[in-house]
Amino acid sequence: MRPTTILCIEDNADNMMLLSRVFRPESYCMVEARNGVQGLKIAESQEVDLILLDINLPDIDGYEVARRLRSSTKSELAHVPIIAVTANAMKADAERCIDAGCDLYISKPIDIQELWETVEALVPSKRDRD
Ligand code: MN
Repeated sequence: MRPTTILCIEDNADNMMLLSRVFRPESYCMVEARNGVQGLKIAESQEVDLILLDINLPDIDGYEVARRLRSSTKSELAHVPIIAVTANAMKADAERCIDAGCDLYISKPIDIQELWETVEALVPSKRDRD
């Protein structure tokens, strides 16, 4: 069976390192993108079960990434869960994430336990499936 795949779109190396420690190969298959365009390319070209989306990216911002994912010709991307990860924790920013097409958001600094539980509630890890 194909492992549950999480696409992490995050430009900060330290945050990406943290994500790779949370989503270890024995639980999920994690795919990394360092900017918005690269993230879109990966989402278009391979099977992805959930997307973790940083909002502050060096090229196009996470809002734009979410909008393009939702309007993609690849129909699966209309429904794939998108979790925005944002340092902009104001209520208006959260609403902007949802308006752009994200399902929910979590704020930075990343709480590992909260992130894990949020992801596992949406897509099963290998541990759940075995
Ligand atoms: Mn960033």
